[in-house]
Amino acid sequence: MDNLAQELKPAVAIVGGGWSGLACAIECVHQGLRPTLFEAAPGLGGRARTVRMDGLPLDNGQHIMIGAYTETLSLMRRIGADPDRLLQRLPLTLSFDDGFRLAARGSSRASLALAFVRARGLGWPDRLAALRLLRAIRTPPAAQETVSALLVRTGQTECCLRHLWWPLCISALNTTADRASARAFARVLNDSLMGGHGAADLLLPRADLGALLPEPALFWLRAHGATVKTGTRVLGVQCSGEGFRLECGDGPTVADRIVFATSPHQLPSMLAGLPDMEALAREVSALEYEAINTVHVAFDSTTRLPDAMTGFVDGEPHWVFDRGALGGTPGLLACVVSAARDSREQTEKAVLATLRRQYPQLARPLWVRTISERRATFRCTPDRPVLRQPRDDRIALAGDYLIADYPGTLEAAVRSGLAAARRIARRP
Ligand SMILES: Cc1cc2nc3c(=O)[nH]c(=O)nc-3n(C[C@H](O)[C@H](O)[C@H](O)COP(=O)(O)OP(=O)(O)OC[C@H]3O[C@@H](n4cnc5c(N)ncnc54)[C@H](O)[C@@H]3O)c2cc1C
Repeated sequence: MDNLAQELKPAVAIVGGGWSGLACAIECVHQGLRPTLFEAAPGLGGRARTVRMDGLPLDNGQHIMIGAYTETLSLMRRIGADPDRLLQRLPLTLSFDDGFRLAARGSSRASLALAFVRARGLGWPDRLAALRLLRAIRTPPAAQETVSALLVRTGQTECCLRHLWWPLCISALNTTADRASARAFARVLNDSLMGGHGAADLLLPRADLGALLPEPALFWLRAHGATVKTGTRVLGVQCSGEGFRLECGDGPTVADRIVFATSPHQLPSMLAGLPDMEALAREVSALEYEAINTVHVAFDSTTRLPDAMTGFVDGEPHWVFDRGALGGTPGLLACVVSAARDSREQTEKAVLATLRRQYPQLARPLWVRTISERRATFRCTPDRPVLRQPRDDRIALAGDYLIADYPGTLEAAVRSGLAAARRIARRP
């Protein structure tokens, strides 16, 4: 009887097992649908996954969440992945190599305001300039404005640029201020700094990325009757009768509804066999991308940096995370270069030189592994195309590129996945 009830639910194929595809599959179960998730890679997680390098589990890149990631945190709770255990919550702290330090002592708005007043390195002209910017962005900036133009318009000081807005822009949008969308930046600042209690808190993974969502989601989905096929690439999709036929590595499959949760650059080939998708494929092809390079450097397990997270005003790396101080592997540093232009080798050389200069007391590293994600996120520019869902309501798109005026983040991926499941569930 149970099997029959399961068979009668509409079958949904979800192509892609990144955070958007996982969110979509979980919400499909809640909506009474029967999802099958196809992931080409051997493991789940997409651009936020645990990889093995020479047998070592490493994140493909250091990820930071913030308190404003409400949908991601609630999704984790829904499947039993407790954010309070898996993430270290720190009131907003920005410490830089040149001694600048802004550290909130709590998660309230008052603590945040006090942190600006007490920040080491911020003078009164800087504080007033920061306030001017935060007041200005209560009105969304013009659609075409860049972050640099917004910073000029609101008269930002050199100190604010170097310690607040440039680093926040490149970390949150993975796009430099001269190219980045002021509207998306304003949205991030409004959601975090102005978002109320806890919204600006930093949530830093204690465990590896796989443990935050991909692994508990796999367990939860299978326990709730969903099918998850890893190592299964979908080669093409066509309409077939009332539904869809998917060509996969392990043979054809049919589904009543379909969600494409691939990275945007992988979408056009998926749409090629479906009618009326040319315009959508053209629009998504217009997106541009930015890389992120992460240099993992392992020292003796007693090694500790003065701060769990340190910014470098001159970039290369932009941030260094002490994974041991965050409850992860002791002695392991993750050094991040956002919007990276250099090769893996050049980045690794520059980062090691910076570490030697900044921390002369460090011994020789035990090992170094550098991971370069060439298309880490779309470039978050004012003119980036915002994609609409296809007219056919049996088809939905999910992915971090689908939320207007929002950068490519885990939260965008999760929100889009939930929205995609709700869209196809609305169909009778
Ligand atoms: C190094 C790095 C650092 C980052 N740092 C942060 C951060 O600090 N904070 C933050 O919020 N975000 C960060 N991000 C961004 C975040 O990781 C992404 O926004 C998010 O993971 C995107 O998820 P997605 O599901 O939209 O896409 P993806 O993760 O790209 O998922 C798409 C999946 O589809 C699969 N697929 C593609 N084609 C097929 C096919 N034909 N058949 C089957 N499967 C297919 C792919 O293998 C992939 O697993 C970072 C990203 C990187 C790379």
